[in-house]
Amino acid sequence: MSKKIVVAGAGHGGVIAAAKLAKEGFDVTVYEKKKRENIGHDWEDRFDFRTILDAVEKDEMPDGAWKYRGNTMFVSPSKRTEVKIDFAPDKRQKVMWRKPLINIIIDYAESSGVKFAFENEILSPIIKGNAVVGICTANGEVSADFVIDAAGVFSPVRKNLPDSFSIEKMPKRGDVFYGYRAYFDKAKDVNPEYPFEVYLYHEREQGLSWFMTGDDYVDVLIGRIDPLTDEKINEQTRLFRKNHDWLGENIVSGGVRGVIPVRRSLSKMVANGYAAVGDSAFMTTPMNGMGIELSVKAGLLLAKNVINSNGDFSANALWEYNNEYLKLYGGDVARNEGLKNSLLKMPSDGVDFLFDNAVIQSSDLAGAGRNMNFKALLMKFVRGMKQPKYFFQIIHGLIKGGKTARLMKHAPKKYDERTINCWQNKIEKQRVEIR
Ligand SMILES: Cc1cc2nc3c(=O)[nH]c(=O)nc-3n(C[C@H](O)[C@H](O)[C@H](O)COP(=O)(O)OP(=O)(O)OC[C@H]3O[C@@H](n4cnc5c(N)ncnc54)[C@H](O)[C@@H]3O)c2cc1C
Repeated sequence: MSKKIVVAGAGHGGVIAAAKLAKEGFDVTVYEKKKRENIGHDWEDRFDFRTILDAVEKDEMPDGAWKYRGNTMFVSPSKRTEVKIDFAPDKRQKVMWRKPLINIIIDYAESSGVKFAFENEILSPIIKGNAVVGICTANGEVSADFVIDAAGVFSPVRKNLPDSFSIEKMPKRGDVFYGYRAYFDKAKDVNPEYPFEVYLYHEREQGLSWFMTGDDYVDVLIGRIDPLTDEKINEQTRLFRKNHDWLGENIVSGGVRGVIPVRRSLSKMVANGYAAVGDSAFMTTPMNGMGIELSVKAGLLLAKNVINSNGDFSANALWEYNNEYLKLYGGDVARNEGLKNSLLKMPSDGVDFLFDNAVIQSSDLAGAGRNMNFKALLMKFVRGMKQPKYFFQIIHGLIKGGKTARLMKHAPKKYDERTINCWQNKIEKQRVEIR
């Protein structure tokens, strides 16, 4: 009898892993709380199209489902300084509506033999001894040889694992952004040269907002490190309208809340009979998204690992997936966490200083100082020393981020719980805490 795999939640990477494993003869079922037509969001996302197309064995995305996004402008908290990014024609960023994207992935999984149980809410994992042996759903218990956790940031599977598994259960303050995103109609036909405006510490609050002017609509995102109230959303929208008089009053799409992980991934994401993938393992980049791409890449790695080990679902065998993800992707993107947390820790005046004096430039915002050369560093030093307190806070964040990245890329080779715990503690010590 083929081994039974349960995927908890129809997250992107989980569904891709499900498809690849079903093709190899595993018995795979995805349990998803929503109706099929409600999965995904009514907004557009930026991601690497090639990664998804290769994963679903397609050549191109359907016409009409995607478009190019315009030039970008980062705006400092005081709004005095604007850092502009012009994309060359071959470097323009593509965005695509989320629902057609998730439909393509689910269609591919169904045609690969994956079964879907929609409208099936998962409540917790079932644990026996030191292993996950199934899930508990609102409709009853389901046993499984292996549970792939793709249920997103607040996965009920991950957060109900026993402490002895040493898997972080809940994000800390600053690890996620609470977002609200809505597409409004346009009150006037205005088309700015930099249609994508990104605001750091928008209206002097910890977080990030954007205002994107499209041909027929305006896409507004309000992101904060604390949960958003209705009053806050209305107030921030009104403030946007004050200096963008083309922002209409009517919501034409979206208008919902969502949570975005903005931290390094879990360092340990596997246990006996369990592996997390995508947002449930916080697989995004702390500064510039990429959650969809990283989730799919992780799903492919996980499937490869399971196939190579002939369906060995022990933590020992799954550790290979854990390590490979961190070595190939998770380690590098973890570098951004130190810089992001240092910025969030600072008063907004400090962020203004860094922008006004070109200590932070567009390349830092996109790459967290990854490609900085000696001359660039020296220039930053000269400019930054006018306010050493803020400057050293940023350098501290970059150094901590660098150490986190190195540690994550060099996880213990063998699955030994004591060695792994010790390595996890070293990573945790590099965290820049946010007040
Ligand atoms: C406002 C906003 C904008 C974003 N923009 C981008 C972008 O431009 N580019 C990008 O790459 N990423 C973006 N992201 C992040 C992106 O959504 C995620 O990183 C990405 O979807 C990967 O997450 P996932 O597929 O693992 O999980 P998710 O997309 O969160 O999917 C989890 C699934 O599990 C289901 N589920 C949850 N709980 C249960 C339960 N108890 N029982 C059963 N099912 C359950 C959910 O319904 C959902 O279908 C954005 C996120 C937000 C909120």
